Amino acid sequence: VGKRAGQERLSVFDPVLYQASIERQFLERDLRRALEQGELQIHYQPVIAVSSGRLTSLEALVRWHHPDRGPISPAVFVPLAETTGLISQLTQWVLLQACRQLWAWSRAGLAPELSISVNLSPTDFLHLDVPQLVDDILQVTGLEPRRLTLELTESAMLDPAVSRERLERLRALGIAVLIDDFGAGYSSLGYLKQLPVSGLKIDRTLVADIDHDPASTAVVRSILELAGALELSVTAEGIESARQLAVLRELGCHYAQGFFVGRPAPPNAIHHLLRRGSTDHPYLDE
Ligand code: C2E
Ligand code: MG
Ligand code: MG
Ligand code: MG
Repeated sequence: VGKRAGQERLSVFDPVLYQASIERQFLERDLRRALEQGELQIHYQPVIAVSSGRLTSLEALVRWHHPDRGPISPAVFVPLAETTGLISQLTQWVLLQACRQLWAWSRAGLAPELSISVNLSPTDFLHLDVPQLVDDILQVTGLEPRRLTLELTESAMLDPAVSRERLERLRALGIAVLIDDFGAGYSSLGYLKQLPVSGLKIDRTLVADIDHDPASTAVVRSILELAGALELSVTAEGIESARQLAVLRELGCHYAQGFFVGRPAPPNAIHHLLRRGSTDHPYLDE
């Protein structure tokens, strides 16, 4: 190795980046272990119908409690799983667990009409045959297709040929697909009219100010209009107050989700919530 090359290498050596890459390797190793040894958990967050306050769905959100580092956010480890090829395994695990869980609750006579919503990563459409996988899991768990919903971000639609084929097969199976974090990034609205999706989940950054900022209200109102014209359902994410929920009700938004409605919670807490029964609509009692 010549002197120049050595100098160049020195000049690009960044101790912070180096540390970060070591960290990543440890984390990747640990995530692999977590997947193999069942260290992951799923929490479920309630989604309600805005008009009735009734619980209609639960979103499955993966959780990782690292033995040494404590809880690590999926916003950290899901992207890591995506770049290291672990995501397919993660997705399959979450799908199967969530479907089994819903089936168990249904069998116990809890929430017979409830559906479960599972997040997919953009790369899942490339590396997995999602419709086949979902079909298999529904067979194994005995769950009806309408009880499962999949959530995809706009970035999963980047390859229209792949996504169209997958989405059409999912629709043929009777599985609803929602566009997650709608309005969070760039938005090419064109794909909405071309692809067979069932609904939109408005990103919480768009909902945050609807109770005091007319511009925010206008944005949400126009999304609702667009969705109405395209016959798409709309779920508002990140509802943290009664006032936000009240505005959404006025605007005619269909579904709502957020800390005010209910935080993501482990299965046993959801079990108690379901046992309290569907006649309990605390959100309408303001
Ligand atoms: P997401 O699918 O948009 O899920 C909603 C996120 O917003 C969750 O964060 C939830 O805890 C949080 N949230 C819900 N209500 C509120 C609220 O009122 N206020 C605030 N500030 N936050 C709220 P979480 O669980 O940390 O998940 C982050 C993201 O990680 C998810 O965003 C999703 O993109 C991804 N993710 C989670 N679980 C999975 C999974 O099983 N598979 C895949 N591929 N991605 C997942
Ligand atoms: Mg989601
Ligand atoms: Mg979202
Ligand atoms: Mg998100």
